[in-house]
Amino acid sequence: MMCTPKRQTSKSRRGNRSGSLRAIALVIVLLVSGIIACKRPAVHSVGRPLIGTLVTLTVLAESHEKAIIASEAAFSEIARIEALMSPVIGGSDIARINKSASGASVIISPETFALISQSKEIWRETGGAFDITFASMSGLWNFSRVPFVPPGPALLNSMKHLVNMANVELDGKKKTVSLKKPGMKTGLGAIAKGYAIRRAMEVLRRYGIENAMVDAGGDLQVIGSKNGEVWMAGLIHPRTKRIIIGIKMRDGEAVATSGDYERYAMYRGVRYHHIIDPSTGEPARHFASVSVIGRDPVEADAFATAIFVMGMEKARELLARRSGLSAILIDADMKVWASRRLAEDLVVLGDVEITWF
Ligand code: ADP
Ligand code: MG
Repeated sequence: MMCTPKRQTSKSRRGNRSGSLRAIALVIVLLVSGIIACKRPAVHSVGRPLIGTLVTLTVLAESHEKAIIASEAAFSEIARIEALMSPVIGGSDIARINKSASGASVIISPETFALISQSKEIWRETGGAFDITFASMSGLWNFSRVPFVPPGPALLNSMKHLVNMANVELDGKKKTVSLKKPGMKTGLGAIAKGYAIRRAMEVLRRYGIENAMVDAGGDLQVIGSKNGEVWMAGLIHPRTKRIIIGIKMRDGEAVATSGDYERYAMYRGVRYHHIIDPSTGEPARHFASVSVIGRDPVEADAFATAIFVMGMEKARELLARRSGLSAILIDADMKVWASRRLAEDLVVLGDVEITWF
């Protein structure tokens, strides 16, 4: 840590005996206050709307200036990623892919290419539950339309064939993507936020920040601690919206939550939300909330969405294979399940019973 106690001045060194005693006392005071200042840097928190959510950076720094400079750099990094990967920003990699003629090769940035390649690996690993071509059907699900009416089975069936990552061809040398069927679209909505968090944290570290939380609408990563206290993330109940569980976050850990309560619409008593099961083209029904905890915010983000689609049995198989990931699952009956690995890290705040697995 860049923190050195202040030195005595040359003037105090030249004084008489009582003068030098005073000088020694002064040095001790400065030393002590230096140590205290070292131990308790101030907490600076600043939020900004980015990547479709509120991003809040909380950093511990010795000065306000250092905190602001580091935070601004991290925000710029997130804005840069948004400009590359947002489907609604014209000229972004994703907008260009989605506009391209079927079969055409689109050259994209190495970063977007890497994230799409990783998405394809996760698609394989999750048996197709995670599929960025869900976006081919996302036009059918406009939750802000009033009144909201879900698409009928005929419409869903006519478009379902467009959702299949097997029809996304990647060329690693040329860094090109091509969509094999007319009408196909991609969206990184379930993974790009994690990437933005990871990169923002890397920027903070580069600016000398050793204790911080990067929070993008509840998905977050932490480093270090909050003045010696462990960072805490709050898990929200999908219906009451109250925080029901606190998650102790260790140095470098990330958590991401996929829920049916942020973007949704009700129709005839049924909740329609934004996490789409690629096998049906409809909202996945197994869970109300899935939180994944791990060391990589990209994986946490993507696997939270994937597990939401996979359901309990397949989710547990995946979590058993992947020892670096833990999860808190809230099923459709609001029953709470959690990885046994998290037993030490969860603080139950409400009237909640956890079933460990
Ligand atoms: P949030 O964006 O609220 O944090 P998620 O991380 O679960 O929640 O991301 C949900 C978003 O992921 C959707 O809005 C959509 O853009 C995208 N998505 C939906 N279903 C899938 C899926 N099966 N595979 C990949 N991405 C999906
Ligand atoms: Mg996600």
